[in-house]
Amino acid sequence: MAGPSVVVIGAGVVGAALADELSARGWTDVTVVDQGDVPATGGSSSHAPGLVFQTNGSKAMAEMARYTVEKFVGLGAFLQVGGLEVATTPERLRELHRRYGWATSWGLEAELLSPEECVVRHPLLDAGRVLGGLFLASDGLALAVPAVAAQLARAQERGVRVLARHEVLDVVAVDGRVTGVVTDKGEISADVVVCCAGIWGPRVARMVGMELPLTPLAHQLAWTGRLPELAGDVVASLPILRHQDADLYYRDRNGTLGVGYYGHRPMPVSADDILSVDAAEVMPSLMAFTPDDFADAWTETQALLPATRNAKVEQGVNGLFSFTTDNMPLMGESRDVRGFWVAEAVWVTHSAGVGRAMAEWLVNGRSNIDLHECDVNRFERHQLAPEYVLARGCQNYVEVYDIIHPLQPMEDPRPLRTSPFHVRQRELGAFFLEASGWERPHWYGVNEGLPAPSYVPNDWAARYWSPIVGAEAKATREGVALYDMTALKRLEVSGPGATAFLQRLTTGDVDKSIGSVTYCLLLDGDGGIRSDVTVARLGVDHYQVGANGELDLDWFERHRPGDVFVRDITAGTCCLGVWGPRARELVQPLTGVDLTALRYFRGARGYVGHVPVTMLRLSYVGELGWEIYTTADMGLKLWDTLMREGAIAAGRGAFASLRLEKGYRSFGVDMTFEHDPYEAGLGFAVKLGKGDFIGRDAVLERKESVRRKLTCLVLDDVVMGKEPVYHDGRAVGYVTSAAYGYTIGRGIAYAWLPAELSVPGTGVRIGYFDRLVDAVVAAEPLFDPAMERLRG
Ligand SMILES: Cc1cc2nc3c(=O)[nH]c(=O)nc-3n(C[C@H](O)[C@H](O)[C@H](O)COP(=O)(O)OP(=O)(O)OC[C@H]3O[C@@H](n4cnc5c(N)ncnc54)[C@H](O)[C@@H]3O)c2cc1C
Repeated sequence: MAGPSVVVIGAGVVGAALADELSARGWTDVTVVDQGDVPATGGSSSHAPGLVFQTNGSKAMAEMARYTVEKFVGLGAFLQVGGLEVATTPERLRELHRRYGWATSWGLEAELLSPEECVVRHPLLDAGRVLGGLFLASDGLALAVPAVAAQLARAQERGVRVLARHEVLDVVAVDGRVTGVVTDKGEISADVVVCCAGIWGPRVARMVGMELPLTPLAHQLAWTGRLPELAGDVVASLPILRHQDADLYYRDRNGTLGVGYYGHRPMPVSADDILSVDAAEVMPSLMAFTPDDFADAWTETQALLPATRNAKVEQGVNGLFSFTTDNMPLMGESRDVRGFWVAEAVWVTHSAGVGRAMAEWLVNGRSNIDLHECDVNRFERHQLAPEYVLARGCQNYVEVYDIIHPLQPMEDPRPLRTSPFHVRQRELGAFFLEASGWERPHWYGVNEGLPAPSYVPNDWAARYWSPIVGAEAKATREGVALYDMTALKRLEVSGPGATAFLQRLTTGDVDKSIGSVTYCLLLDGDGGIRSDVTVARLGVDHYQVGANGELDLDWFERHRPGDVFVRDITAGTCCLGVWGPRARELVQPLTGVDLTALRYFRGARGYVGHVPVTMLRLSYVGELGWEIYTTADMGLKLWDTLMREGAIAAGRGAFASLRLEKGYRSFGVDMTFEHDPYEAGLGFAVKLGKGDFIGRDAVLERKESVRRKLTCLVLDDVVMGKEPVYHDGRAVGYVTSAAYGYTIGRGIAYAWLPAELSVPGTGVRIGYFDRLVDAVVAAEPLFDPAMERLRG
C-alpha cells in the first residue's frame, strides 16, 4: 500500500523528516519538491548552526527535541557535545533550576553545575562571571544538511521522489479539497499537500487562501577567527553554550567560535520579499550582516569568554527563520481546504519529532503526543490579523530567552477583547491578565478591605498575586460573588442532526430532557482526551456547548454532517458566574425562575430583571449558583442588576484556588490528548452504555490498564505547575495545576503519578526551584466531597 499521493513542499529539515517518517509508515507515493538545490536548498536549514537544547517548558516540544536527537544520532548527523546554559544573575540561576525541573519532568537527564563545574565543561568561560549552570549531556549539534540528505536518501530508497529546482507556483484545490500543485516545471497531482516551506510558508499557504500566522525574522550569527584555545582540527570540541542573560549562544567549529544573538532590534521580513534562489547573492534565507546590531553581543562575549578578547568577528550573517505569535510551531490541516497540511515554524531542534508527529497524524489520524499547543487551528480570528502576527512575532523574538512567569500576560497589543462588564470592572479597580485576547480580572482593588485568610506566598508565587485573591475566595465560600466567565468559548449546536452528532462526539448521554446539562469529554479515536465540555440542551435540536477553545470548534466542524449547524456565539454573548451560599438570596428576588426547583446540572431560560437570560446551575468553584448568560448588548444591565448589596465581584485568582479545592480538571493543563478519562479521574463522564461514540472502543480497553493517575497532593507551600515529583529520590511524575487553597489552608498540587503511588497518605517531594517541597497524596476533592454546597 503506497498510501495517498502526497506532495511535500520544501526539502529542509522538516520536509525531509516528514518524507522519511511517511515512507517508513508505508506512504511511499510521496514527492518532495524544492525550489532550490537539494540537500542545501538555500532555506534556513542550509546555514543553521544546529544547536539543540532539548529543555523546554512544553512537554510536547521537549519530546520532539528528544526524538530529534535520538534519530540524528542514529543517522550520524549529530555531535553529542552536551549543552550548557549558564547564569550570570541570581534570577537566571533560579530560572535554570526551574528549567532543570522541566527537563526532569519530561524525562530528560540534566545536571546543575557550580561555577567551577561550568568552567570544567567549558574552559573558555570566565569563572568569575558565572553563578552556575544547567547541563544536558545529551544535547549537542545537529548537522542539518547531512540530516536532510540522510533522511531524503532513506525516503528515496522506499520510493519517494525528490525534485530539486521545482518551484511551487500554485496549489490547486477543487471543492474545498487539494488536487495537486503547479510547479515551474509542470503539475503534480496529489491527495495531500504538506507545506514545509519554512519562511516562505505564508506565501505558499496563501495559495489556498490560508492565513499562516508566521513572521520571518533576521537573526544574527557571527563567526570569529581561530582561537588558539580551541582545538583547530575538531569540528566541535566544546559543549554548546547559552548565555541567556545577554541573549547569546555559542558553538565552536574547527577552532573558531560561532556567536548567535537575539538581543538586537527585531528585523522582520515579509515572506513575499524573500529573494528567489537565483536572485540571492548567497542564499535566499541569508541577508547581509549588520555589524552595528552586533556591537553589544561582541562586548558581552569578550567579557564572558576572555579568550575572544584577542579575536575578531570575521564573518556574520543575518539569517532568516520563522517566529509565531506564541512561539509554538504550526502543524495540522487547513480547516477550509481539506488535504492541505502545514508543518511550519519548526527549529532544527524539533524537526524530526515534528516529522514523526505529522506522519502519525496523517497516517493514523492522530499523533502519539499531544499537539494541542501546536495545532495550526488553535488561533482566534484576531490572532490572524497581520498587524497582530507581526507585533507578536517581533516581541517573541525579543523575549526568546526571557524569564517568563506562568501568569505573565502579553503587554501589547492590549486591550483586544473586552467583555460587556469591562467598564464596571475597571471602576472596581480590576487587575487584568489576558487570555486569548480577553481582558480577565484577576482580582479587584475595591475588595482590599475584605477579610483575607493569612497566607504568605513564596516570592515566585507572589507575582501576579494580591492578598485580595484570598479575600475574594473567602467571600465566595461565605457569601456570594460574581465571576466574569465571558472568555470561555461557547458554541451553539443546532439542526435536525444535532442530538445524534453530539451523542457521537461526546462521551456523555446528552439525549435527555430539555433543560438538562451534561459534563462530558471529546475523545480521540484512541481514547485520548481532546477536551471537556458542558452540553446544555436548550431545545429539541438546540444545544449550547461550553468548550475550551478554537480546537473544539475545529473538531466539531470537521465532524459535522450537513444537517447540523455549529456557531461560535462567544463574542455575541456574555456570562456571569454567580456563586456562593448566598447566591439564591441574591438572585431569586430578581427572577421569575424558581431557583429552588432548578436542580444541579439543570438549566432554564427566563429573565433577571429586564435581562433575558439562560441560567445553568453549574459551578467550577463548588458553590451553589448559576452561570447566567445573556447577549452582549444586555451584559452591562445584567451586571448592574446583580451587583447589589452583599455581592462582590471576584477574579481568576480566587477562581483558580476554589477550582482546585474542588478537584475540577482543566483541559490542556491537567489532561491532554495523551491521557484517557480513567487516568484523569473523569471516568464518571464516560457513558459506555449509551451506544457508540468516538473513542469508545479504545477507552473500553484503556479502562482496564490504568497505570498512572492524576493525583491530588497537599503541601505546606505553593508550587506553580510543571515541577517534577520525586519518590524515594526518583522522579516519578510532574505537577499540572497548583494553587493555594484558602479554605483548606494548604497548598494544592495536581500531579501525574504512577497508579501505585496515587494512594492517599503517600509522601512525595516536589522539586521547586532549588528546593524540595514535601507533599502528601490526599483523597479528593479536598472541599465538600459530599457535594452539599452544590446541591443545597
Ligand atoms: C542564523 C540562524 C541560526 C539558527 N540556529 C538554530 C539552531 O541553532 N538550532 C535550531 O534548532 N534552529 C536554528 N535555526 C532555525 C532553523 O534553522 C529553522 O527553524 C529550520 O531550519 C527550518 O527548517 P524548515 O525545513 O522548516 O525550513 P527551510 O530549511 O527553510 O526549508 C524550507 C524549504 O522550502 C522550500 N520552498 C519554499 N517555498 C517553496 C516553493 N514555493 N516551491 C518549492 N520549494 C519551496 C525552500 O527552498 C526551502 O528549502 C536557526 C536559523 C537561523 C537563520
